[in-house]
Amino acid sequence: MTSKILEIDRLTVSFDGFKALNDLNFSMDAGELRVIIGPNGAGKTTFLDVITGKVQPTEGTVRFKGQNLQGKAEHHISRLGIGRKFQTPRVYLNLSVRENLDLACNRHKNVFSTLFKRPPSTDRRNVIGLLETIGLTAKADLQAALLSHGEKQRLEIGMLVAQSPELLLVDEPVAGLTDEETENVGNLLLALAESHSIIVIEHDMEFVRQIARQVTVLHQGSVLCEGSMDRIQNDPRVIEVYLGQAPSIGEKEMIILRIAASMAWADGDIAPEEIDVILTQLSRQFADDSQQQKELQKELRDYLSSNVDIANLVPQLETMAEREMVLKLSYEIISSSARHPDEDLINEEEAIAYKKLIHLLELPEETVKHLEREVKSKE
Ligand code: ADP
Ligand code: MG
Repeated sequence: MTSKILEIDRLTVSFDGFKALNDLNFSMDAGELRVIIGPNGAGKTTFLDVITGKVQPTEGTVRFKGQNLQGKAEHHISRLGIGRKFQTPRVYLNLSVRENLDLACNRHKNVFSTLFKRPPSTDRRNVIGLLETIGLTAKADLQAALLSHGEKQRLEIGMLVAQSPELLLVDEPVAGLTDEETENVGNLLLALAESHSIIVIEHDMEFVRQIARQVTVLHQGSVLCEGSMDRIQNDPRVIEVYLGQAPSIGEKEMIILRIAASMAWADGDIAPEEIDVILTQLSRQFADDSQQQKELQKELRDYLSSNVDIANLVPQLETMAEREMVLKLSYEIISSSARHPDEDLINEEEAIAYKKLIHLLELPEETVKHLEREVKSKE
């Protein structure tokens, strides 16, 4: 007996000789919520295409609950219990929210019978429950066209769930959503995870942090690494592939940046304008022209706005120069966020974070004082 809902062995998908997936191994327990991340072109969408039968493997096998999916058509796989939500919502815009869910509950029936006959009572109960789950009870009779983008995403997730799949595949559900809707969709997926196995493909790091338990990183068609969000984010290989396209920044510089940025986030409360200031400051340090700086800021925003475990990162700094640079940048950041010019540190959390950093850096006290004076005189 296997408790694995999905087992993928040595999967390769070639498009005219180009391997979009390359000898990929993956498995997932029933009931798991797994997030898959990876840079553009890593093979994430192809991965879902193979599971749903849209693309056939060149080599290797995909097993769903122990059953080999080789050669099975898409509709067959869908009936076995794998449902997929595409990136753009596919709802009937001229039908109400409730009618969309009615339809999804009765896929075998046609639009007319759903609209003109009363659905049986079990279906009605299902729909009421679904409306509640997706948080659209109050909008049940509203035309789907009038929903916000985020509400449409939730409706489509509801329509998917209406078909009772065991495994839900969700491709970039929060692209283009507001922060509030992103959180709503996150909470919905967390609620669904209590009774479904779910794979979410995602780009938005903030969102990944909200929902992720176990994360798989894809790179060049293979699994680069797997683990908790914390582990993934501190893995130098992940930093390298994620920021690999960054024009002028190396792995070491990234570590320096992340440590320094973590000072600003120490109190867990930072205004967007402050983030902009800090990102500008940091990116200037490492990128020369303004185009490079802009790109770096974009990439850093995703990467830096998280709780960083500096105790993990500091030991990766090898030279004295790197340690001194971290100290200067960090000091610059905390003193620039001080509310009064003569106030040294913005608040207690930052003071604690900074003290911890000094301790980890193991720099002589004299050096620390000297570097701090240098930063101050520059201001
Ligand atoms: P991701 O979703 O991670 O951005 P994809 O799975 O869409 O990546 O694509 C992986 C790689 O495979 C890309 O280099 C892409 O250009 C290529 N690719 C995807 N589908 C096809 C196809 N049908 N024909 C040729 N190349 C493809
Ligand atoms: Mg994709």
